Amino acid sequence: MKFNIATLPGDGVGPEVINEGIKVLKAAEEIVTGFSLEFEKYDAGNGHYLKTGVTLPESVFQACKDSNAIFMGSIGLPKDGMPVVVDENGTEVTGHVMFKLRFDLNLFAGVRPIKLYPGVVSPLANVKDIDFVVLRENCEGLFASYGAGIILYDDIATDTQIITRKGTEKIVDFGFQLALKRNGRLSDGKKAVTCADKHNVFRSFAFFRKVYNEVAERYEGQVEKDYAIIDALTLWMVQTPQNFDVIVTENMFGDIISDLAGAFVGGMGMSPSGDVGHNYGMFQPSHGTAPTIAGKGIANPVATILSGKMMLDWLGDRHDNKAALTAAELVEKAVSNTLARGIKTVDIGGTAGTSQFGDAVIAEMRRL
Ligand code: ATP
Repeated sequence: MKFNIATLPGDGVGPEVINEGIKVLKAAEEIVTGFSLEFEKYDAGNGHYLKTGVTLPESVFQACKDSNAIFMGSIGLPKDGMPVVVDENGTEVTGHVMFKLRFDLNLFAGVRPIKLYPGVVSPLANVKDIDFVVLRENCEGLFASYGAGIILYDDIATDTQIITRKGTEKIVDFGFQLALKRNGRLSDGKKAVTCADKHNVFRSFAFFRKVYNEVAERYEGQVEKDYAIIDALTLWMVQTPQNFDVIVTENMFGDIISDLAGAFVGGMGMSPSGDVGHNYGMFQPSHGTAPTIAGKGIANPVATILSGKMMLDWLGDRHDNKAALTAAELVEKAVSNTLARGIKTVDIGGTAGTSQFGDAVIAEMRRL
């Protein structure tokens, strides 16, 4: 079975880490056999905008739609914390790629696994194991106002949060389905979905929780209900991360807590993600363009390689291709063993370069 992968390396460290992702996935394909991956690279992003005035060409968007999956590096080009490429609204043009793909392809589920691998030291004292998922609703919430906020009389600015029944039902159901496939929370092995909101203050979040409860009914006896108000959740995530299995939340909250959680497991270089819907899937590291280290060959490719692993899982499930699922397992095992052997990039305390790490993962896959 052949899978066409629309590949958008993007800006900053994007091309460096995406090359390692492709290298590792191609090696997995060769070792496992039974599927093949055709990576077609396309130019899009802020660098492309500077050259052409367009961030995501229509032909590239079409190619993404026509492919079996999308594999992306990172899009952006900030300098000193400020976006250097902004549109007439003063917001970064990065959104023209990310949000166009998420909204137009209805990639409603932002899946961000938070897992501590052996050999990686968590900044959380006394925590040895971490394994939970932040599930971010990707198409509504505060981000539904993207491009539609209002500034009145240079005095008042608004962006409105949108929570719909349909959108909430989809993401919550996705969360319960995900929990069914996982092994439960580390503290007691129980499968659970935590609803993270601010229901005590905002009607939109009270509605989110109401719909969560309705969906949760269908999973009674299989997956536990769990609740957290978002501010308390940030505290509990730091103190007792082992108490979480799947955390489902609104777009903006998910954006923030997934970066916080990424710090628990070695930082952004260790945080993969998948943006998936019922018909399309896009896989990319959670990190941005990391401009201060771009071009130096030292970026950590783990987040991208593990995003590639998520892509294999998704393709394998979707197309009932066991070989792709086996390859996903092999990639993760090889990354884990490589880290355990102390081969690490500088951001997590090692000395390996980006491609040296990719080579080590491939050598480990061949050994396994
Ligand atoms: P952008 O605005 O494009 O998101 P940024 O630097 O503000 O760029 P990130 O790229 O997410 O945001 O980076 C946050 C921090 O994590 C930075 O210190 C960056 O150097 C580091 N970082 C991000 N990705 C990696 C990576 N792959 N390897 C090592 N360090 C990384």
